[in-house]
Amino acid sequence: MNYPTTREEAKRTGAKYYFTNKPCTRGHVAPRKTKGCCVECMKEDWVTDNERRKTLPKSEASKAAGRRYYERNKDAVIARAAARPIEEKRRHKDNYKKENPEVINTSWIKSKNENIAISASMTSNTLAVTSFSRYRLRIGIFG
Ligand SMILES: [Zn+2]
Repeated sequence: MNYPTTREEAKRTGAKYYFTNKPCTRGHVAPRKTKGCCVECMKEDWVTDNERRKTLPKSEASKAAGRRYYERNKDAVIARAAARPIEEKRRHKDNYKKENPEVINTSWIKSKNENIAISASMTSNTLAVTSFSRYRLRIGIFG
């Protein structure tokens, strides 16, 4: 791409970038924004600032915006989550467990209580057979 070689030329022609072929104060030889600085410096600053912002607690407004986004784009969000590679899901889960040690996975307790309720509603002679059948159904063995 042909950039103007000076900021003045860029301003005059209305170009957004110019290229001097000289290193900036941080040593990048890269195009510069007519209304700003070197694009490589901008990228570096963005990465640094993004790392800092990741550590900040989320504001209530930000959380609300996230919830609104989810409500409006539920299907797309769920589809993206389902399409995520399994390693990424595991990493997410492990990080969540590490960051929230007080949260215990109670799904197995819920499942156990459901089984007890179902078993209790059956007559005693079908109880053993039924729980074994449910187990086989859950792990995918039929017949
Ligand atoms: Zn630079």
